[in-house]
Amino acid sequence: MDINLDIYSPVQPIQNELFAAKGLQVFIKRDDLIHPIISGNKWRKLKYVLQQAQAQKKTHLITFGGAYSNHLLATAAAAAKFGFKASGIVRGEEVENDTLFLCKLHGMQLIFTDRESYRDKESLFQKFFGDDGQAFFIDEGGASAEGAKGVSELVDELPQTYNHIFCACGTGTTAAGIINGLTKHQLPTQFNAIPVLKNGDFMRQEINRFLTAPASYNLYTNYDFGGYGKTTTELITFIKQFVAQTGILIEPIYTGKMLYAIYDLAAKDHFTPGSKILAIHSGGIWGLLGMKHKF
Ligand SMILES: *Cc1c(COP(=O)(O)O)cnc(C)c1O
Repeated sequence: MDINLDIYSPVQPIQNELFAAKGLQVFIKRDDLIHPIISGNKWRKLKYVLQQAQAQKKTHLITFGGAYSNHLLATAAAAAKFGFKASGIVRGEEVENDTLFLCKLHGMQLIFTDRESYRDKESLFQKFFGDDGQAFFIDEGGASAEGAKGVSELVDELPQTYNHIFCACGTGTTAAGIINGLTKHQLPTQFNAIPVLKNGDFMRQEINRFLTAPASYNLYTNYDFGGYGKTTTELITFIKQFVAQTGILIEPIYTGKMLYAIYDLAAKDHFTPGSKILAIHSGGIWGLLGMKHKF
């Protein structure tokens, strides 16, 4: 089977009084529309990983994630779509939630493991699947050079040149892929990474390990809202307003923080008037299901 999806990810304008007053043209690339479940950067990161598994004649995908991991869910759905078996090793004690329900619905087998052993993914792989010749290791979050390669193709699709591109970062693979795409096309665009984890300075190393050539980019470490999966009433209020005003669904773990950063920087006159700014909607809206109680 040909492992591919037709990419539908239009670039749409976001218009409001703030951006108009600051003379900014802001756009959003709708990677969330690529697939209802294998959404956004998760498909882009999986594409070459799955092709590699297929080339090695491996039929059983093994991957890792927290109990609300978008990557686990995307892998479950991609495995189902492209004819793989899938197992997910989940961090923490056994729980049930909407994300894991959808993983299981797509046929993924789940193995829960304590936080201590979760750190060593290679030995977990060996322990549970060491004697399964069909098993194929996919790192947490799809972090890999193949993942970055898939993401770099996003840049091939851009309809114009932007002054700024913004993207949320978890493992940094998506950021690295976009930067590599900008380098390949020799674009003057400034890339802006928004780590969603606390003390995000470490993200620079994570991004740099997947860069094909050294590049400069901005890292904003003050939009984590307390850390991974953490929110504030300010962030939730922003998300409610954004969704109600644009009809574009975002969530508090990744895309909400990244878009908040753009609005905040715009309000603080960070951008030169006339700038064109592109936000990457990296998908992940199922993450909302785990955050309902915050709204
Ligand atoms: C997983 C995810 C990210 C983080 O991507 P990385 O490549 O791990 O940095 C960003 N946005 C969304 C919506 C995600 O689901």
